[in-house]
Amino acid sequence: MPDPTRPKGPKIISIANQKGGVGKTTTAINLAAALAEQGRRVLLVDLDPQGNASTGLGVEPEDRKFSTYDLLLDDAPLRDVIVPTDVAGLWLCPATTDLSSADMELVSTEKRSFLLHDALRQPDIDSYALDYILIDCPPSLSLLTVNAMVASQSVLVPLQAEFFALEGLSQLMLTVREVRQTANPTLRIEGVVLTMYDVRNNLSQHVEADARATLGEIVFRTMIPRNVRVSEAPSFAQPVLSYDSASRGAEAYRALAKEMLMRHEAAQNRG
Ligand code: ADP
Ligand code: MG
Repeated sequence: MPDPTRPKGPKIISIANQKGGVGKTTTAINLAAALAEQGRRVLLVDLDPQGNASTGLGVEPEDRKFSTYDLLLDDAPLRDVIVPTDVAGLWLCPATTDLSSADMELVSTEKRSFLLHDALRQPDIDSYALDYILIDCPPSLSLLTVNAMVASQSVLVPLQAEFFALEGLSQLMLTVREVRQTANPTLRIEGVVLTMYDVRNNLSQHVEADARATLGEIVFRTMIPRNVRVSEAPSFAQPVLSYDSASRGAEAYRALAKEMLMRHEAAQNRG
């Protein structure tokens, strides 16, 4: 039974950046796990044909009976696609390599930008009583990413603290603007999070200063340090919060979740 005292459905957040290797999947997995640790009920939708988020959460390809592909293009019911994970309060819509052809197939469908939007609004989503849905986007501004943005209330952008980090952001923002104009007028930027930050590296500090100067308040105070435990965790099929709970990486993702939750509470109190 849906709880009538619950506010309107889950908050849906796309994790997007058309650059590969900037920490999208790592952020999707660990922010989702950190939110679950904070008692939130979270669904992670793996929208990358590579399926790294699915593997990283321990859902092996042979266990992916249905996937986000079926959700988008075969009208699969959510309850057939969603699988539980080892993290309490965290569910997953796994991806399979099928998704790599989805972009082309989507082009020829009538509601091509709205398929994920509609899939995530099936009535049976209520039975999960979700607080958050995070969508791990592929490294492109393809129709899959557009589907994620159309389905979402906001976009969270991981920015690798590296040379050329800010390049490409304008293209991403252009896509956000286009989605606002055509399909989802209230789409917000959730924030920009600096990833793989290295305090000993001047370049990291440079990128941070640059990002804060040009992007202002939308840059999260919390930054994710470069931390070997973070990069090891996926091969143990765990979020870093489970793999090494006291690591700097785990602490950083906890802090990011808390910062985001505080922002949401502040926004709610403002009405
Ligand atoms: P994307 O999804 O944007 O392609 P990933 O999250 O897969 O990026 O990250 C790219 C690579 O960087 C992966 O090997 C991942 O383990 C590593 N990585 C991501 N974040 C960190 C971090 N904070 N510290 C160390 N390695 C990281
Ligand atoms: Mg990825």
